[in-house]
Amino acid sequence: MQKEKVIVIGSGPAGLTAALYTARANLNPLVISGSQLGGQISITNEVENYPGFPEGTTGPELVEFMQKQAERFGARLLIDEVTEVHFEEGPPFTLKTYGESYEVEGVIICVGASPKRLEIPGEEEFIGRGVSFCATCDGFFFREKDVLVVGGGDSAIEEALFLTRFARQVRVIHRRDELRAGEALKTRAFANEKISFIWDSVVEEITGDGKVERVGVRNVKTDKQEELTTDGVFIFIGHYPNSDLFVDQLVMDEKGYLKTDAKMMSNVPGVFAAGEIQDPVYRQIATSVGQGCAAGMMLERWLEEREG
Ligand code: NAP
Repeated sequence: MQKEKVIVIGSGPAGLTAALYTARANLNPLVISGSQLGGQISITNEVENYPGFPEGTTGPELVEFMQKQAERFGARLLIDEVTEVHFEEGPPFTLKTYGESYEVEGVIICVGASPKRLEIPGEEEFIGRGVSFCATCDGFFFREKDVLVVGGGDSAIEEALFLTRFARQVRVIHRRDELRAGEALKTRAFANEKISFIWDSVVEEITGDGKVERVGVRNVKTDKQEELTTDGVFIFIGHYPNSDLFVDQLVMDEKGYLKTDAKMMSNVPGVFAAGEIQDPVYRQIATSVGQGCAAGMMLERWLEEREG
């Protein structure tokens, strides 16, 4: 059993910031990356609203900078996944990854959220064969093709705009007649000749022979159903928190977001959480960074008080 003072679970903006702050407090944190180093922003192409980058930046660049900065002060990044936690007794708490077991004094959970599914026939079956949750990852494969984007929020519109770099035509299917996305993105999307909208409609089925070829769409106002041909379906309908690991261990809301107090602490003293795993409201890189910073500071203070 490896002994650690601080473990940060997750390596997105919240995790890497918690690592930076605990590293600078000489706590020598171990960051366990999770399945995707950098979290969701590592697959985000353009980042225009993170302060300090007047010309914008990219997700991978931001991850690289954040990682380097945390490591400069002694944070250690481990590419592994936490598979089991035991918060019922402790501190020290025990925690397992694929490769090791740990005993740890304080934990900061920054495991983020994952893309929501439509939960319709064909969705799972065609992942990687026309169904995608990441335009940055898969857009390239749709050069001069026709794609559909499902959703009406910032993610859907941002990704639809990105897809116009490759695709011949991008049709956005939204379940209402008004986008949820912010004004700046809306204006850009409406002005883009490659983007068109299918309003008040939901995708009910994805079909094809070995790859996506058609979708069944229903207008929710008229109930009219039609079949559209397409080469790809990009789904951006929000996220759910990655909290399965903590069921029966930590208090969460009805949607699975971990509950934290004003000091970013969960119901278990010594276990903190930051970023999208505990934030159903803001979900911005800037707010995740702020929450990671706060969690790092509060864990440091908590350890100090405990050790007298
Ligand atoms: P979101 O804001 O929750 O939007 C989800 C969209 O999907 C909504 O338009 C919603 O429709 C639709 N939807 C949800 N469930 C659906 C279903 N089962 N079937 C069909 N449509 C469904 O999620 P998001 O776009 O991923 O954004 C998440 C957060 O990140 C937001 O706070 C957003 O501002 C932020 N974000 C910001 C940027 C940026 O600022 N550049 C970029 C990306 C994300 P309704 O509108 O009818 O609810």
